[in-house]
Amino acid sequence: MTRTSTAGVAPAPASRAAAGALDALDPLRGFRDRFEIPPDLVYLDGNSLGALPRGLPERLREVVAEEWGSGLIRSWTGAGWMEAPRRVGDKLARLLGAAPGEVLAGDSTSVNLFKLLALALALRPGRRVVLTQRDNFPTDLYIAEGLCELAGARLRIVDAGELLGALDGEVAVMSLTHVHYATGLIHDLPGLTRAAHEAGALALWDLSHTAGAMPVDLDGAGADLAVGCGYKHLCGGPGAPAWSFIAAAHHDRARQPLTGWLGHAQPFAFEPAYRAAAGVGQAMVGTPSILSLAALEYAVDLWLEVDLGAVRAKTVALGNLLVGLLASRCAGLGLSVASPLDGAVRGAHVGVRHAQGYAVMQALIAGGVVGDFRTPDLMRFGLHGLTTRFVDVWDAVEALRRVLLEETWRRPEYQVRAAVT
Ligand SMILES: *Cc1c(COP(=O)(O)O)cnc(C)c1O
Repeated sequence: MTRTSTAGVAPAPASRAAAGALDALDPLRGFRDRFEIPPDLVYLDGNSLGALPRGLPERLREVVAEEWGSGLIRSWTGAGWMEAPRRVGDKLARLLGAAPGEVLAGDSTSVNLFKLLALALALRPGRRVVLTQRDNFPTDLYIAEGLCELAGARLRIVDAGELLGALDGEVAVMSLTHVHYATGLIHDLPGLTRAAHEAGALALWDLSHTAGAMPVDLDGAGADLAVGCGYKHLCGGPGAPAWSFIAAAHHDRARQPLTGWLGHAQPFAFEPAYRAAAGVGQAMVGTPSILSLAALEYAVDLWLEVDLGAVRAKTVALGNLLVGLLASRCAGLGLSVASPLDGAVRGAHVGVRHAQGYAVMQALIAGGVVGDFRTPDLMRFGLHGLTTRFVDVWDAVEALRRVLLEETWRRPEYQVRAAVT
C-alpha cells in the first residue's frame, strides 16, 4: 500500500526550520501559552481531549473552596450556579452562530441526542422515520436505535451518498455528524439542512468535532437542532458537559421526554405535574454538574477571545502540511490518507490508515507523539487551532517515519489493546 497520493497537495516545507517559520507567522501562536502542555510531548489528540487551560486549576480550587466550601447551598443563587447551564450555553452560542437562549450546557452528547431526536419526532407528528448515515459515530446510531424502539419510530440508515434520495415524506429528522469522526470529511451543513427542509424534515447536527475547530452558523443555515461535546476542541475537561441547541423557531412547540424537575417552568413550585420551561430550558433534566460546568466555562471564556476563522485557516494549513509531509517523507511505508486531501472539506484531524495502525500508534505514543486509533486500521492525528504548532506536525511525521522504517511497532508491548484507544 503506497497510496499517499500527492494530487492537489501543496509542497510541504523541507525542513523543521521551515515549519518553525510558519509558527512564527501564526496569528494564534500566543494562545499555546494559555495551556498546560508537557514540554516534550507532541500532542495531536486535542480533538479527543483538549488540553488543560492555564489558570483553570486555580479557578476550580476557588469554586471548590469558596463557592462550595464557604458558600455552601447559598451558592446556587449567590454564585450563579443555577443559571450556569444557560449562561454557559449563551457563551457557547457565540461560537456556534446561535442566539442567546438557544443553547444549553449540560449532560452528555449521547443523552442530548436522545432528547433532541425525541423532540424532533414530537415536532413532526405523523412522520416516524429518523434518517442517518451508516458510518455515523456509533453513539449517534445506538441512541437513535434505542429511541426509535421506544418511540415506535423507524431508523433508516443509508450511505452518505444516498442521504438526499432517502429524504422522503416519512422522515421526521435527518441526524448527521458535521465533521466525520474518522475521516474528518465535512458535510455541507447549510445544503443538507435545506434539503431536509425541502422534504419537510428537520435537521439535527452533531458538532462534536466542529465546535472550537471552525466557525459554524447554525442560525444562518436554519439548523433545527444540534448537540456537541465540551471536552474535545473546546478543552472543557474530561467528561465536560455537552450542549444542546434548539432553534428559536421550535421553542415551546413540543417537548422532549426526559421531563426532569429542572426542565420544569418553575422547579421550586414543586407542582405535581410537569410544565416545560420556555425555550432551550426544557432540555435541562436534573441538577447540573457545577464543578464540570465551571471548568467548561473557564475554557469557553478563553474561546470567546479567539477568531474562529483564524483557527480554521490554521488547522487547514496544519492538515495540508501533514498530508504533504506524509507524501514526501513516508512514501512507500504502507500508509494511506483516509481524509480528504482538499483542506476545504477536511475538518481538524487527519486519519491515516496502516495495516498495523494500532501498534504503530502505540509506538508513536511511547515516543512522545500522542494521537489515537480507531478500529480497524485508522490512526488519527488531531490538529488543534490553539495548541498545535507546525513543528509538532513536522516532529510527528519524522517520528512516524522512524517507527515505520525501524519497525519498532513490532514490539510485543505495542500489540496489546488498551480499553481506550
Ligand atoms: C466524541 C463524540 C461523541 C461522544 O459522545 P459522549 O456522549 O460525550 O460520549 C458523540 N458524537 C460524536 C460525533 C463524537 O465525535
